[in-house]
Amino acid sequence: MPRRRPPWVIRIARERIDILFQLADKEFLKHPERSHRYVELARRISKKYNLRIPRKWKRRFCKSCYRFLKPGYNCRIRLSKGKIHYHCLECGRIMRFPYIREKKIRRRNKIEYHTLKKRADEKIPISNNSTDRESRNQ
Ligand SMILES: [Zn+2]
Repeated sequence: MPRRRPPWVIRIARERIDILFQLADKEFLKHPERSHRYVELARRISKKYNLRIPRKWKRRFCKSCYRFLKPGYNCRIRLSKGKIHYHCLECGRIMRFPYIREKKIRRRNKIEYHTLKKRADEKIPISNNSTDRESRNQ
C-alpha cells in the first residue's frame, strides 16, 4: 500500500530541486563536475517524489547525458524552423523545442503595445511632457 506523503515533504522536495539547480548554475564555471552531480541529485529527488523539474530548469540539463547546460559554455542555442535547438556540447545531442508560447506572448505584447499607443495618441497630453517622452522611448 502506498504511503501518503504529507504536503510538507513535497514542498521541501521542490525546494531542494530548486536549490540544487541554483547551486549547479553558481558552481558551473569553477566546478562543472559538481553541477552535473547536482543535476543528478535533483533528478533523483524528482523521480522519488514524482515531481516535475520546474519549467525554469527543465532545459538546463541535457536529456541524453543529463549534464548541466550553461548556454554559451557547453550548450549552443539556435533558432530554426520555429524551434529552439539546444545543442549539448558535452555529448552532441540536439534537443528541439517549439517556441509557440514565446511567439504567442510576443504577439500579444505587440497587440497590447499598439492598442496602448493608439489610446495614448488619442489623449493628447498637455502637461508632464518629460515623463511622457521617457515612457515612449522605452
Ligand atoms: Zn548531452
